[in-house]
Amino acid sequence: TAIIQIDTLSKQYDSGTRALSDVTLDIHEGEIIALLGPNGAGKTTLISIICGLVVPTGGTVRVGGHDIRTDWRAARRLIGLVPQEIALEPFEKVINCVRFTRGLYGEGQDDAHIEQVLRSLALWDKRDAATRELSGGMKRRVLIAKALAHRPKVLFLDEPTAGVDVALRREMWEVVGQLRREGVTIILTTHYLEEAEEMADRIGVINKGRLLLVKPTSELMGEFGKKT
Ligand code: ADP
Ligand code: ADP
Repeated sequence: TAIIQIDTLSKQYDSGTRALSDVTLDIHEGEIIALLGPNGAGKTTLISIICGLVVPTGGTVRVGGHDIRTDWRAARRLIGLVPQEIALEPFEKVINCVRFTRGLYGEGQDDAHIEQVLRSLALWDKRDAATRELSGGMKRRVLIAKALAHRPKVLFLDEPTAGVDVALRREMWEVVGQLRREGVTIILTTHYLEEAEEMADRIGVINKGRLLLVKPTSELMGEFGKKT
């Protein structure tokens, strides 16, 4: 069954921009899906709606069966969002950043879980370091750790490698591979076909607010192969 059900979703901003038109998509538990499209395609709008940050003008989204409009709290609890921008308290310790996010969800502290998250992201040895001491890659991993702190079922990665160098891009791919092995459902946005191919089980191509197609990565890449 689908963990996220998106049905004829539309968004027109007050400015008049139609950012999404009739997007319908089921996302299955345990899969990694990449939303591939150029700047302005509507990817961030789609993620923001599912995460309850932007109100749609039409259609519905259910997360774990909970309608995001009528049952927002229950839906939000199942979701972790890794934003595009790195925003971390520079003088705060890594472990406290992660504890803080968990607290935001009203969850009691669970040190065993936080340790497991930090270990799986290779941050355990850095747990007492201030975030400003970390490399760019480590900072990105702290953002992921924060997003995983309340044990979400679905993790959103908005342009996880925007503006990063090749080495760091590879590192992020490895992190996603690790999360895949742990069974986290992941939705990521990217404008690199190569990145979608590397990380995702399925690729959804989005342009001008429309979901043009959704296919298993192998099938889509096979078709590209035939054309060239
Ligand atoms: P909403 O329909 O969500 O109320 P608005 O059109 O009122 O959206 O814009 C919300 C905010 O986003 C405003 O502060 C506006 O300045 C900003 N904004 C407007 N156009 C864009 C754009 N093209 N990209 C990003 N932000 C924008
Ligand atoms: P992507 O993430 O694929 O780059 P976005 O969802 O950010 O696409 O943007 C889709 C369209 O909606 C663009 O035309 C963008 O300028 C517009 N847009 C995004 N946010 C806002 C906003 N807050 N207010 C008005 N227009 C917006």
